[in-house]
Amino acid sequence: MYRPIQKSNKLADVCYDIRGPVLEKARQMEDEGHRIIKLNIGNLAVFGFDPPDEIVHDMIRNLHGAAGYTDSKGMFAPRKAVMHYTQEKKIEGVTIEDIYLGNGASELIVMGMNALLNSGDEVLVPAPDYPLWTAAVTLSGGNPVHYVCDEQAGWLPDIEDMRRKITPHTRAIVVINPNNPTGALYPKEVLLDIIELARQHQLIVFADEIYDKTLYDGETHTSIASLADDVLFITLNGLSKNYRSCGYRAGWMVVSGEKRHAKDYIEGLTMLASMRLCANAPGQYAIQTALGGYQSIQDLVGPGGRLLKQRDLAHQLLSEIPGVTCVKPKAALYMFPRLDPKVYPIADDQQFVYELLAEEKVLIVQGTGFNWIAPDHFRVVFLPNQDDLTDSMRRIARFLEGYRRR
Ligand code: PLP
Repeated sequence: MYRPIQKSNKLADVCYDIRGPVLEKARQMEDEGHRIIKLNIGNLAVFGFDPPDEIVHDMIRNLHGAAGYTDSKGMFAPRKAVMHYTQEKKIEGVTIEDIYLGNGASELIVMGMNALLNSGDEVLVPAPDYPLWTAAVTLSGGNPVHYVCDEQAGWLPDIEDMRRKITPHTRAIVVINPNNPTGALYPKEVLLDIIELARQHQLIVFADEIYDKTLYDGETHTSIASLADDVLFITLNGLSKNYRSCGYRAGWMVVSGEKRHAKDYIEGLTMLASMRLCANAPGQYAIQTALGGYQSIQDLVGPGGRLLKQRDLAHQLLSEIPGVTCVKPKAALYMFPRLDPKVYPIADDQQFVYELLAEEKVLIVQGTGFNWIAPDHFRVVFLPNQDDLTDSMRRIARFLEGYRRR
């Protein structure tokens, strides 16, 4: 008799609901012939947002040359392109050696936590968060401690909450700016407050800036690492969103600021980069090409741009639903609306999402999937074209109308 083969204890508390059990249900329904409108994942290319032509051409042209392993940190030319990018973002003192290329930012996020954490170490992670951060801390043996982002303040981090949650075990603060799932964009003053906490308590700042060019209404983005040189910053970015290239799995990580005291940690990062040999080489060619020249994301987010129009449409339609309020995103691809608990007394928001899927064939993600503290929010992407977006918002409105009558 075989004993059941179980997953490791390391995975016991690891959770990643964006691709969780509800998605499985949606797949089953598709197999049965239903058309599901997917508002669950920020996967631009499948909604007709094509990657810039020059990236595709350059990857094709270089495919032969990309058949071998590269340096573990990545090829020189794309790292040099990232170095120029850090200069544009006013992050000082970055050399080629401080840049690591990865198979998307995701791989580097896990690497960054794995190289750092011992059992019992704590990392401050936002609530709501992009849940890979919480999962990566847990998988690496650490304890995620969530600081609240304040909806009343446009989802800015609550600095006092952050301060209260720092203990002698805290090693790092995660800052997701622009934010997924809320679409918040942090002003310089907030970033300076976070730096001050990191400085006082000798914490590393992990800055996830993957949406730094997906900005609406003429907003500009400040890299937190550009604001100090006496704190260690690990900045993450990549092609997935700004260049509509999620599938190319091309990301980078930049180590900057107070590196002198971090030699051992940096050695750990380099070792983990070596162990996975290298990031996929075609994706590295894409980085090199993407970062120079005209930045076509502007055509999507600027006046008359498709993303801008869809953000406005989705926000308007959601806000018209009784008992639903939503902070208008300044950046990124998502909205994180609130369902007034007096109108919608939801006990289990995953169940809520299942019911919406079953009744209206619309797939969203429950707020608790982003480590939000109560079952009173959900996340949608505003990527489908205007017709599908309008249709999906009408279906959500109809479902909620039924919910109010219960
Ligand atoms: N960070 C944030 C905030 C994200 O929203 C995502 C993907 O949705 C990632 C990182 C992962 O990006 P990548 O495709 O580069 O792995």
